[in-house]
Amino acid sequence: MHQFQNYIGGAFVDGSAQFESRDPATGEVWARMPEARTDDVNAAVDAAYAAFLAPEWAGLTASARGKLLLRLADLIAENAQALAELETKDTGKIIRETSAQIAYVAEYYRYYAGLADKIEGAHLPIDKPDMDVWLRREPVGVVAAIVPWNSQLFLSAVKIGPALAAGCTVVLKASEVAPAPMLEFARVFDQAGFPPGVLNVITGFGAECGAVLTRHPKIAHVAFTGGPETARHIVRNSAENLASTSLELGGKSPFIVFEDADIESAVNAQVSGIFAASGQSCVAGSRLIISSEIKDEFLARLKEKAEAVVIGSPDDMATEVGPLCTTGQIETAVDLVARSCDAGAIVITGGARLQRQGNYFPPTIIDCTDAPKAPCVTQEFFGPVLCVLTFDTEDEALEIANDTAFGLASGVFTKDLTRAQRMIHGIRAGIVWVNTYRAVSPIAPFGGHGLSGHGREGGMQAALDYTKTKAVWLRTSDAPIPDPFVMR
Ligand code: NAD
Repeated sequence: MHQFQNYIGGAFVDGSAQFESRDPATGEVWARMPEARTDDVNAAVDAAYAAFLAPEWAGLTASARGKLLLRLADLIAENAQALAELETKDTGKIIRETSAQIAYVAEYYRYYAGLADKIEGAHLPIDKPDMDVWLRREPVGVVAAIVPWNSQLFLSAVKIGPALAAGCTVVLKASEVAPAPMLEFARVFDQAGFPPGVLNVITGFGAECGAVLTRHPKIAHVAFTGGPETARHIVRNSAENLASTSLELGGKSPFIVFEDADIESAVNAQVSGIFAASGQSCVAGSRLIISSEIKDEFLARLKEKAEAVVIGSPDDMATEVGPLCTTGQIETAVDLVARSCDAGAIVITGGARLQRQGNYFPPTIIDCTDAPKAPCVTQEFFGPVLCVLTFDTEDEALEIANDTAFGLASGVFTKDLTRAQRMIHGIRAGIVWVNTYRAVSPIAPFGGHGLSGHGREGGMQAALDYTKTKAVWLRTSDAPIPDPFVMR
């Protein structure tokens, strides 16, 4: 049985309790995880706070911080395959995807390594003749980074990278579901040469570990990725310490295909948008909004591809769809499909749990043209379930696309660039992909509107979000200060 530990103050330590992790492909317990309870969380925050103040970290130049991040990036690249295998084991995400994604995670750390010494302050053209005024950009303090189980090395890189580049220190809480990759990441991080306590990695349950962390008085910022319900707890907790928050939440992203689109390309992008990662992606293109002119042809091709998908063991490079991460997701999938059918939706393919060991649910397509308010249209769901809606006009397509409480990602497929431009302007979402889908880069900001949260990860702004400005006033005159009762 594998045994993992938390990483606090530069040491690997057991938690106050333990819990088990199951292999989603077999349903069997394969590892024991350290459960961080109140004392462990407090120890992690204290370690991060001490590190934040210590000259070993606070005294480093920004360039020196960048060099440490570069070293970390190299170590991630060297260990990418081992980390990918662990993520596949614990989450069931296919090895084809985890190995490519984790290799690319190194690029996120490289990007923020390069940004570390480009976070500049400003000199202000102040309206007083005897004053020099400038802004310093200083790190906000100790950051609580909270991630879910899917794509966790990526989701933590967009928090840890900019936070450390800015000079903050971090307590990262991995999900209680499949935390192995983050706990192993701590072992890689440990070799990079950062002072102890700069990054602490713990795992535990939301009700204790998450709550104690997010309302801790020494936490200055909470960077959260997860569901909207949990986000509400986090915002309430931040009323205690008045920490700032960035919230990356769920989505129900529209995938709009016009009649002039390159159908082969759009079908492939739709397969990637909803069946890759078994649909367990916040940006999953889970609402296909298709022109009625090409609906039949498009769905026929999509169904053929969906039924040809290779379902298998996640550690096999040939597998295209693996198991869902938890048994709860299977139950939700079954329930969602049943309730949608009750509402008038029609299953085109899939729709029932696969009769095999593990949490397997097949690629599923449901026509909701006559049930536009069916649960599978409105509810975010982490699984390979695509709902189909139909439009006749551009305005109708836009109206359906925006008929959601979420606003994370979107896709538009058309060869008409002026139409694409109108859709880009009209769609309420943080990301619009035109004639492509599910492309990411450290250089491009990522985030949403509405129930998809606020704040952006990736890009320059994300690093600035981990800083606060300090306005410095330097008087340049040696003359005595005049009338002390007049504000200067
Ligand atoms: P979740 O909200 O249940 O859990 C996320 C994290 O929050 C976990 O680490 C959990 O332990 C912690 N948590 C739970 N209760 C807490 C509390 N009271 N205080 C503090 N922390 C607490 O989410 P999940 O089911 O693990 O992940 C799926 C969700 O994440 C989906 O909604 C998905 O869309 C979203 N997601 C968003 C993005 C994005 O970048 N926008 C990316 C991936 C996933």
